[in-house]
Amino acid sequence: MEVHAQLLTESKMFCACPTRFGDAPNTNVCPVCLGLPGTLPVPNKKAVEHVIRTALALNCRIAPIALFYRKNYFYPDLPKGYQISQYGEVHPIGTHGYLEIELNGERKKIRIRRVHLEEDTGKLFHYLPGESEVDYNRAGVPLMEIVTDFPPDIHSPEEAREYLVQLRAILTYLKVCDGKMEEGSLRCEPNISVAPEGSNQLGVKTELKNLNSFRSVVRGIEFEVQRQIQILESGGQVVQETRGWSEEGAYSFPMRTKEFEQDYRYFPEPDIVPIQITEEWLESLRKTIPELPLAKAERYRREYGLSDYDARVLTADYDTATYFERCVALGVEPKTACNWITVELQARLNETGRAISESPLTPSHLADLVELIQSGTISGRIAKELFDEVFQTGRMPSEIVKERGLVQISDEDALRAAARQVLEENPDAVQKYHAGKTSVIGFLVGQMMKATQGRANPQRAQQLLREELEKFR
Ligand code: ZN
Ligand code: MN
Repeated sequence: MEVHAQLLTESKMFCACPTRFGDAPNTNVCPVCLGLPGTLPVPNKKAVEHVIRTALALNCRIAPIALFYRKNYFYPDLPKGYQISQYGEVHPIGTHGYLEIELNGERKKIRIRRVHLEEDTGKLFHYLPGESEVDYNRAGVPLMEIVTDFPPDIHSPEEAREYLVQLRAILTYLKVCDGKMEEGSLRCEPNISVAPEGSNQLGVKTELKNLNSFRSVVRGIEFEVQRQIQILESGGQVVQETRGWSEEGAYSFPMRTKEFEQDYRYFPEPDIVPIQITEEWLESLRKTIPELPLAKAERYRREYGLSDYDARVLTADYDTATYFERCVALGVEPKTACNWITVELQARLNETGRAISESPLTPSHLADLVELIQSGTISGRIAKELFDEVFQTGRMPSEIVKERGLVQISDEDALRAAARQVLEENPDAVQKYHAGKTSVIGFLVGQMMKATQGRANPQRAQQLLREELEKFR
């Protein structure tokens, strides 16, 4: 599995142009990233540190001397005619690492061959045949490449997905990449080959591109595996090539036959001095690595008694985990916090396209809301309505409750009167109840909630309804 991750830096890899996404085409460019003759590249220190930190988190050996190489190929999105990259077994920043995944309760190590630093290419737009345009804003944006080892440890689409989920989580925890597959800041290219059952003699591989969601990764790999099996079983040969994936059509198609290593004519980049990675530098970076997702999930299960599923959902993203931990620190019971975050909050965030870090409903709001429910001040139904309003306005739930008189009705006489009125207005339901269809109680509770504008406690309402129903016999 090859993964390219755009690094979160202000400026490009070898010049001071901004890396901002979405600016007008060809506005963030300069002679260096346009590859004009006579310019010289200067490496971005932050980008180097991002890659070192990632390599440390992925248990890699760190090169004491990191070297850049030129990877030569001609393509219109590559203005210099070569990409500055890293190469070989020794000089990429990180080598010989691994990442652990957890699938069906079992842990597995996926070995990582290398973690290296390079620059992104420009972006091509193809319109009519023969009519294309190129935007060089992306040319020279710092790019990290992470490649798994050979022979492969990933043996199924599910393992591939799990590897990517874990990797994406680690990158966002380290804040080295925003992890947005749909915007192309995290791109993955699985290399796929098959072997006869029981043999480990892998056949010719193909590489898949244009996979911009976890779902496409799984579907793309499944399709490609079946395609190769069909070719081989009908006596054909798989061609080594790069194939595109069409998400709408759910099929892969040939893009270009795969280049071989010698086609790139790698040689050391003469314009950049070797980068010495000292022990002191490494030590200072090691200190900046936070608790990683898998360890965090394990702690959530152990300390908070959360299920596997809950722990995974909460830790898949650093900001979600941080949000959750703040709620717990404010006294919210962990499982309660988890439910509100993964159900109600997640739904609102999805609807509005907001990140959890931009949520107007903060952990303090949630803690306040939960406290109102637990003290019996408001009913669960009112709480859900309040949740919406707080999410929209950012106001404190207790303030709204006070202002609007949403306090739960706890006056027994008032509740009992409401129960009696509901029974009087629904003689059919009462009859059914006495005829043995006791499930109608749910309907009656609903009517009672309506009559009290949701301010009745549902358990208490049901109790009173049952008591009053006996009198109605
Ligand atoms: Zn530039
Ligand atoms: Mn690359």
